[in-house]
Amino acid sequence: MSEIKPAYNVVETPDGYSAPGLFATSLDKVIGLARKNSIWPLPFATSCCGIEFMATMGAHYDLGRFGAERLSFSPRQADLLMVMGTIAKKMAPIVHQVYEQMTEPKWVIAVGACAASGGIFDTYSVLQGIDRVVPVDVYVPGCPPRPEQIIEGFLKIQDLVGNESLRRRYSPEYRELLKKYRIA
Ligand code: SF4
Repeated sequence: MSEIKPAYNVVETPDGYSAPGLFATSLDKVIGLARKNSIWPLPFATSCCGIEFMATMGAHYDLGRFGAERLSFSPRQADLLMVMGTIAKKMAPIVHQVYEQMTEPKWVIAVGACAASGGIFDTYSVLQGIDRVVPVDVYVPGCPPRPEQIIEGFLKIQDLVGNESLRRRYSPEYRELLKKYRIA
């Protein structure tokens, strides 16, 4: 008889010390575990890749299974900027401003060829990759990427979030990175 699997996701226990009635781990890992399973994405969708994202949020793929069903259309209540679609140079300052308005800690995914590199639009008017205006953590290739690829990118973000040291955002390297993007 085949094994019946639960319909919900059971999160992995972080590394730590366990004994009967006791489990001890580091604060970094506990916070990482909570953060990675409660990401609030801000969908910045400008064109066709946004349609793939709609499919990713729909019942069949359902990004909510990973704790990310609460989309945010306010940067101040979001911690993952998902840029999906062609970004015209005129819009680049808006992407930058939205990123600046998000509170720390925050992460960014460039979904699809246009967001990652300008895609097929190698023209005077299209930004050749959003990493020219904001730091990007994960790039999802494809034109458009399938929902499975978007989910794969999201899982990579979850790995980053879960394993990030609480001190990273205070490090000189991180400050240097923000300075490069003219973010105070
Ligand atoms: S990568 Fe392809 S599918 Fe996505 S926005 Fe650009 S042209 Fe559209």
